[in-house]
Amino acid sequence: MTAGIYASRLGLKTFLITRNFGGQVAKKAVDIENYPGFKKISGLELVRKMEEHLRVCDVEIMIDEVIKIKKKGKEFLVRTAQKKEFGSKSLILATGADPRPLEVPGEKEFLGKGLSYCAVCDGPLFRGKVVAIIGGGNAGFETAIFLKNIAQKIYILESGTELKAFAANQEIVKKGGKAEIITNAVLKEIRGDKLVNAIIYEDKKTGKEKELKVEGVFVEIGHQPATAYAKDLVDFNERDEIKVEFETCQTKTPGLFAAGDLNIGPFKQIVTAAGEGAKAALAAHNYIQKKARQ
Ligand SMILES: Cc1cc2nc3c(=O)[nH]c(=O)nc-3n(C[C@H](O)[C@H](O)[C@H](O)COP(=O)(O)OP(=O)(O)OC[C@H]3O[C@@H](n4cnc5c(N)ncnc54)[C@H](O)[C@@H]3O)c2cc1C
Repeated sequence: MTAGIYASRLGLKTFLITRNFGGQVAKKAVDIENYPGFKKISGLELVRKMEEHLRVCDVEIMIDEVIKIKKKGKEFLVRTAQKKEFGSKSLILATGADPRPLEVPGEKEFLGKGLSYCAVCDGPLFRGKVVAIIGGGNAGFETAIFLKNIAQKIYILESGTELKAFAANQEIVKKGGKAEIITNAVLKEIRGDKLVNAIIYEDKKTGKEKELKVEGVFVEIGHQPATAYAKDLVDFNERDEIKVEFETCQTKTPGLFAAGDLNIGPFKQIVTAAGEGAKAALAAHNYIQKKARQ
């Protein structure tokens, strides 16, 4: 959205293709307290304000999913899931990251039938129910904070020996009294009938498998860059993040920029993603002007 705002204000004919507005921010379970200008704001509200700003700019918007990008002569070609193809002089990739899947039996079968990757979207469906959160990092604990007034009981499963969440988040969850935290717990399977009714995990200390009766499972084991569609035109690091020059967010292909969580930048934050969106649009503008002079 920031790249769109900047590109249009620089006078570029700007076309924005996205699956949805807000990405990870829209799914954030607790308020944001580190985006300048807002002491405390919910993810949905911040996204709404950004979208409102974007929509007063001269940007054409299409809801679709990019499945492939190519270069043909001087032009970039973008193909979408709805089988459309568009050409452009420059391209800014800002597709962020998607939730990392569990890759255990039952995951695909029970998605939307008790298994969720988004507590903000699906949490209210679990009122009075027993749920498990997979992942003891900040995302897992923020999900527990969000669910503590909804669910009857919350299990948090962490595969490591120690919890990775900030102490402040752990304190809030532990005070609530509803959460039971299980470390050294490696999820093995999600079971159910039509809907989830249990999970199986391995206790790493004993090697034994255990069952927990739950009606909901929230997956919070991190994110992976949404970059597969770009593989012909960019280089990746070992985490599939796109390699860029930090000054401009340019990839190895001139005119192709990558901003936000999908690149090798070490800090994945809203303000850094927005900053890179601005940087990439300014660099794309320079690139197009330089090409026009050649
Ligand atoms: C639980 C959690 C809590 C967080 N809390 C904070 C916080 O308090 N403060 C903070 O600063 N940061 C926080 N972050 C990090 C922050 O959310 C991210 O750094 C930021 O959202 C990155 O923005 P982005 O635009 O790069 O990517 P994303 O937010 O991932 O957005 C990418 C967008 O691209 C779309 N997309 C993906 N693939 C395609 C495709 N092929 N075609 C079309 N569209 C596509 C997605 O649908 C999405 O709309 C948090 C993250 C998580 C997971």
